[in-house]
Amino acid sequence: MTNGVGRRVCALCGQRVDSGTGLTLLVPDSSALAAGLDGLDGERLVTACGNDHAAELVAQARVAWVKEQRWFGRLCRASVEPGMRDSSLPGLRDRARLSAQQLQAALRWNAGRTDPRTVLPGGQPLPSGDFRPDGNGTRPR
Ligand SMILES: [Zn+2]
Repeated sequence: MTNGVGRRVCALCGQRVDSGTGLTLLVPDSSALAAGLDGLDGERLVTACGNDHAAELVAQARVAWVKEQRWFGRLCRASVEPGMRDSSLPGLRDRARLSAQQLQAALRWNAGRTDPRTVLPGGQPLPSGDFRPDGNGTRPR
């Protein structure tokens, strides 16, 4: 079933929601950023037929939240910002305002996906295998 424009259905029960009734709400979605949907910073719009299902959808979205996915999304977004094209991973990490631990967790999350990214949307290559973000020894290129 396609959910065409102007045809809103409740994201929980699938019941048709006519314009003027129902609710449209923002729920947390850690994948919104990773998908490159700018402006929706870790949130996504869903339609609900009423208050009960709205509350249920928010609860479900909270359970589905993956913080590592969110961090990876921030890294992806930093990679396409002006001046970041030739940036190293530590530089991108700073721009994305991630801690070393968050970066590592994000990279681990990506590596564990069925189809992991090998380059960021900005073209910066991602390290395969373990990345050590200590920044004291030799800097990874
Ligand atoms: Zn519903």
